[in-house]
Amino acid sequence: MPDHYDRVNVKQKPDWLKIKLHSDKEFASVAQIVQQHKLHTICDSGKCPNKAECWSRKTATFMVLGDVCTRGCRFCATATGRPLPIDAGEPERVARSIALMELRHAVITSVTRDDLADGGAAHWARVIEAVRAQNPHTTIEVLIPDFGGDEERLNTVLAARPDITGHNIETVERLTPLVRSRASYRTSLGVLRHIALQGAVAKSGIMVGLGETRDEVLRALDDLREAGASIVTLGQYLRPTRTHVEVAEYVTPETFEFYRTEALVRGFAHVASGPMVRSSYLAEQALANIAGQSSVNIKNESR
Ligand code: SF4
Repeated sequence: MPDHYDRVNVKQKPDWLKIKLHSDKEFASVAQIVQQHKLHTICDSGKCPNKAECWSRKTATFMVLGDVCTRGCRFCATATGRPLPIDAGEPERVARSIALMELRHAVITSVTRDDLADGGAAHWARVIEAVRAQNPHTTIEVLIPDFGGDEERLNTVLAARPDITGHNIETVERLTPLVRSRASYRTSLGVLRHIALQGAVAKSGIMVGLGETRDEVLRALDDLREAGASIVTLGQYLRPTRTHVEVAEYVTPETFEFYRTEALVRGFAHVASGPMVRSSYLAEQALANIAGQSSVNIKNESR
């Protein structure tokens, strides 16, 4: 397999990236729940192209600790600046919203809060505990920031026992300084290693189309496996605004399939690889594949 992508004109989006824009009763219901409970979602903040599809399936990914991030990654549409103080009522409102949406699998993420003494770890734990208390049959997946690689903060989150703990490396090692702000590839691998060493299910994600080579992606997959990650997602980077880093390539569905196969060969228990894949896209599909080899607790078959 040559170490370059099949070239696709980056000025014109290929057909496989055309998105659905419809909204329906379920979409409106999710929108109402999010609005009434004064919550944020990465679906909105991240300008996710799957919003219509996911919300119509009555699923969304809540974003806690506010909607302003202390970092300014060049791929991310979330606002950067000085965040508001922690909203103490947020855990209960997230939990209530998940109950109203009858989610079997809840995915929660957050902005990065380098301004807080604990990086927001205690709030994260409160969110997980509140969600579990109100939704005992729902599996909980968290997509966390790097907490500066601080193991004490990570342990605070892990002690709340999320079923899946994700942290994205986002891109290959060479491109990390160009794409991510203040984060390091090695710190992120350390975060994943720590998650896995604590016996938790570790998940990560990579965006492609930023100018990486196939070999670099394969090396990143090796690094993730070596760190102990058992779930990986690969999706096409899409530029959220003209101020963000440009798309270098539209990666073909065939190349995504190549990565999927290579990831499975490397021993990942679950791989989601495709142009529209995001960390949280169809995230519940991983549960069946990891149930046998991890601490994940599948207790929601009847819902
Ligand atoms: S893929 Fe994730 S972030 Fe995007 S709309 Fe679906 S749930 Fe939201």
